Amino acid sequence: MTVSTHSPAGLHSVPTSAQTWTVAAIAALFDLPFNDLLYRAQQVHRAHFPGAEVELATLLSIKTGGCPEDCGYCPQAARYHTGVEAEKLLPLAQVVAAAQAAKHNGATRFCMGAAWREPKGRDIERVQAMISAVKAMGLETCATLGMLSDEQALQLKASGLDYYNHNLDTAPEFYGNIVTTRVYQDRLDTLGHVRRAGIKVCCGGIVGMGESRLQRAGLIAQLANLDPYPESVPINHLVQVPGTPLNGTEPLDPIEFVRTIAVARITMPEARVRLSAGRREFGEAVQVLCFLAGANSIFYGDKLLTTCNPEAEADRALLAKLGLKTSAQDAAASCGDCAARSAD
Ligand code: SF4
Repeated sequence: MTVSTHSPAGLHSVPTSAQTWTVAAIAALFDLPFNDLLYRAQQVHRAHFPGAEVELATLLSIKTGGCPEDCGYCPQAARYHTGVEAEKLLPLAQVVAAAQAAKHNGATRFCMGAAWREPKGRDIERVQAMISAVKAMGLETCATLGMLSDEQALQLKASGLDYYNHNLDTAPEFYGNIVTTRVYQDRLDTLGHVRRAGIKVCCGGIVGMGESRLQRAGLIAQLANLDPYPESVPINHLVQVPGTPLNGTEPLDPIEFVRTIAVARITMPEARVRLSAGRREFGEAVQVLCFLAGANSIFYGDKLLTTCNPEAEADRALLAKLGLKTSAQDAAASCGDCAARSAD
């Protein structure tokens, strides 16, 4: 299926996952006048998500710090001196309590993140217990645990995992500037294992790491050309953490971030495009532009792994101001569940 829209650049067809996006075509979207780009993104968004609705997801770090990888943006890498201490995997009861709180606060998806290169056998068993318990509460489950084998993906699926998050981070040609302890193909392989296991894919990247616009287009091309493209696409803005190699990087212009959201929406029409790390630094006005550009999911709660996230109260106030419903509100309307609903 295609959605045709008019723009000063002429009639344009928006491909779905059955079609291929070239980096040049995506770069041409980035280059559109801002208002035209947002108009295009709005048309695509409304064709696939008719209601003004935002999904809320809460992320809990179930195993913080001490990671052997060298991702240049990450305060959890053991080799960087960021003040993040290595912790053990949280006990099941603590994860269950956090998921209950998230549900009470309106989250519909609960993501569990562990700072591992890849999980070991015993780790998988313990995370499986967490997934089963969170799933039993009626929440969608998501995990981000590093690289997975085929077998591990199947184990997670068997315990009720709905989504697996594994970001591509950036364009292939820029990846070596950010991470050297694994290669791009490792990430694509894990995504393949996740798909084959029947788990939905949450996969996005980080912008503002010093990449060029063409490289941002390259990241979006990689995501949009996954077959099928991810169900969830978190777009992070680099949060600069003292002690990490990327601290001190020239900040990305906020309008360029909004453009990235719009291009993600146009190229992945049915995906949940999620505002993730770094939205706090942009403030309300830029977040509003992001919603206009097609973002329809946010991470919601007090903490996003080890970086601060806007407080739930501020998020609720902003969404109310914009008249944006949350997926939790939709759920409450249909099932009469918890009265204290709100957003991601
Ligand atoms: S991003 Fe993940 S894999 Fe990379 S250092 Fe941080 S925790 Fe480790």
